[in-house]
Amino acid sequence: MKKALFGGQDEDYGPCACGKFRATVPIAIPESWDDASEEMQMLESNNFPFAMGYDYRRIFGPVSDGGGYLLNFSSCHDCCKRAVEMGLAEEVEDVGVSSNCLIESILNKVGEKLFG
Ligand SMILES: [Zn+2]
Repeated sequence: MKKALFGGQDEDYGPCACGKFRATVPIAIPESWDDASEEMQMLESNNFPFAMGYDYRRIFGPVSDGGGYLLNFSSCHDCCKRAVEMGLAEEVEDVGVSSNCLIESILNKVGEKLFG
């Protein structure tokens, strides 16, 4: 079981999947969380769309330190707390991504699409 990490400067990217709050928490999602993973199946069986808010399909690039994570902004603070209670997430001071790094990774992705 690899935990998602969350924490750092909030950004507003649209409603959380719970529908109660805006999704604002920077979350580092482990790349190993694919549809078949234990973590995703646990979320599914609890009917809990953690980190699947409005903007979840937009991934903001890899987290700069401690590789193996992708950055996502699609969960509210309450859902992050629930994920902690389920043993699926852990709060950290900052997931380790500066806004410059974000912009750079978005540009890199756009570049890859345009120029292969
Ligand atoms: Zn929520």
